[in-house]
Amino acid sequence: MIEQIDHIGIAVKSLEDGIRYYEKTLGLHCEAVEEVASQKVRTAFFHVGEVHLELLEATDPESPIAKFVEKNGEGIHHIAFRTNNIAGQLKQAAEAGTRLIHEVPFEGAANKLVAFLHPKSTHGVLTEFCAEKKA
Ligand code: ZN
Repeated sequence: MIEQIDHIGIAVKSLEDGIRYYEKTLGLHCEAVEEVASQKVRTAFFHVGEVHLELLEATDPESPIAKFVEKNGEGIHHIAFRTNNIAGQLKQAAEAGTRLIHEVPFEGAANKLVAFLHPKSTHGVLTEFCAEKKA
């Protein structure tokens, strides 16, 4: 079951510049900066009430974020839904005919399991499911 929107992913060219904007202009506080080597990104998280912002900066020209920024410029990259059953969520999406980018969840930032649906079959919104990793 989807519990809530967990975070909004925003692609930036420079994590430092992005962090500065959200701290100085909006007065938010950066909670954590983390590199996710498997996705070739560095991320910065901000709490905004129950929802987070996840800034994403490419660490490699082959990173999906580098390709996104090259094509679209900086901006909103994905929306992440928190679920208590990521495998079930992926199964439901696949059964509904939605194209999955990941059939098996992998370890994302903030110690969560994540998997993405393809934006070509989600009306243009790159969609992430994320779930707490069970201890
Ligand atoms: Zn995300």
